[in-house]
Amino acid sequence: MKKAKLTGRIVTPDDPNYEQARTNNNLSIPKFPSKIVFCQKTKDVINALRWVQENNESFRIRSGRHSYENFSLVNEGLIIDVSEMNNIVVNSSVMTARIEAGANLGKVYRELWEHGLTIPAGTESSVGVVGLTLGGGIGMLSRPFGLTCDNLIEIEMVRAGGHLGAELITANKHTNSDLFWACCGGGGGNFGIVTSLTFELHPISNVSIFSITWGWEDFEVAFDAWQHFAPHTDENLTSQIELKSKEVGEIVAQGIFVGSPSKLKKLLRPLRNAGSPINVWIKEVPYIKAVKFFDVPSGNQPALRKRSGSFIERTFPKKAIMEMKELLANAPNRDATIWQQSLRGAVGQIPSNSTAYYYRNALIAQEYLTIWEDPEEEQQNIRWIEQVRNTLSPYTVGDYVNFPDLYIKDWPTAYYGRNFRRLRDVKTKYDPRNVFQFAQSIPPSRKWL
Ligand SMILES: Cc1cc2nc3c(=O)[nH]c(=O)nc-3n(C[C@H](O)[C@H](O)[C@H](O)COP(=O)(O)OP(=O)(O)OC[C@H]3O[C@@H](n4cnc5c(N)ncnc54)[C@H](O)[C@@H]3O)c2cc1C
Repeated sequence: MKKAKLTGRIVTPDDPNYEQARTNNNLSIPKFPSKIVFCQKTKDVINALRWVQENNESFRIRSGRHSYENFSLVNEGLIIDVSEMNNIVVNSSVMTARIEAGANLGKVYRELWEHGLTIPAGTESSVGVVGLTLGGGIGMLSRPFGLTCDNLIEIEMVRAGGHLGAELITANKHTNSDLFWACCGGGGGNFGIVTSLTFELHPISNVSIFSITWGWEDFEVAFDAWQHFAPHTDENLTSQIELKSKEVGEIVAQGIFVGSPSKLKKLLRPLRNAGSPINVWIKEVPYIKAVKFFDVPSGNQPALRKRSGSFIERTFPKKAIMEMKELLANAPNRDATIWQQSLRGAVGQIPSNSTAYYYRNALIAQEYLTIWEDPEEEQQNIRWIEQVRNTLSPYTVGDYVNFPDLYIKDWPTAYYGRNFRRLRDVKTKYDPRNVFQFAQSIPPSRKWL
């Protein structure tokens, strides 16, 4: 058999593009790979996977570069990067799109919008559709249309196996259905290299968006009103709330309603009547404008970051709300926040074991975030995030696998709940030699205990 050769656009440390090519969205865990291969076609992916195995080289898979813990980077090994494979083919007659795994959300939203169609997905345009989908995919259309993975029909994946050591396989509800189940929430990087994703699409035109801002003095009343409202209101309304540091002193609720502004105004009454909002607006916009509104530019820029998160299954008692307020009053800097997004609706209509995404009963997904400029401030920021996680843990469950945190010791339960065992079975079947691994990857059965 002929020896494998790397093909595609290859970047090495002496290349002028190396810095740009190796840098991910989170600058706080830098890594220095010895090569990055930007695959142009499936054959390049197959060649790369053969090459790493033949040369016993460590490697990681990368697309949109947004892994919070930089699981898509490695020191000294190879990065197999699919971001230049990003073609999208829409089949309007059957309302599906085949999206190559390198497309980011900005490209996906723009191209589908040209057909008056969309998928429910995340807010930041530079996030990769593949990393987002494999972990679930939460966004501003989750309540009417479900998670991104709930709209997935099929994937193509290069797995480690076959007589060449790498083979292209397909997974959907009928073929390799166990792998397909695992790819709907099991997280990126675990089973193989996804090269394309086919989704069911939804028609979309105008939507109504809103924003309500309160001052710090309304912290308790604003959050309490939002948590009783957001997961239970009309399914066509998905919203988020950002609890900012005391230094900024704002609580901001925003969302998208697939419906008219007059109906949204009525729905929002419990929020508008809570405390004394300092700014309230509602407008009707073409959906693509709503996408741009929620695409915060700072999220797309590489920065020093630490994040973690959890799910809320029962509304927070007053004590938990006061604890969040206290944590934000003692935040390490003004940009530290707690962010929450409403779930249920279509997300909650699927049983917890029907896909690998486990936390179907959650009312809210939440994220704890800090961003800082001086590298010396890293420890105090990490400490604060872990303090938030520990303080709120009596009131929360698990963590969304797409908000991974290396400090979570029992991460298998935190990310996957009771679905972990089945995920290990799938791993054992499709990657028994554990070719695909990183700090919190799903291990095959034999190696675990
Ligand atoms: C600013 C920001 C905003 C975010 N907003 C949202 C949001 O609105 N909703 C939401 O649900 N999540 C959100 N996330 C989390 C996001 O879903 C995850 O970080 C996701 O894993 C990113 O995927 P990626 O392709 O961009 O990242 P990458 O770092 O390239 O990859 C992420 C993981 O997937 C693996 N992977 C990459 N490509 C492939 C492939 N082709 N095949 C198999 N595995 C692969 C990697 O090895 C890695 O483990 C956000 C993250 C950030 C940083």
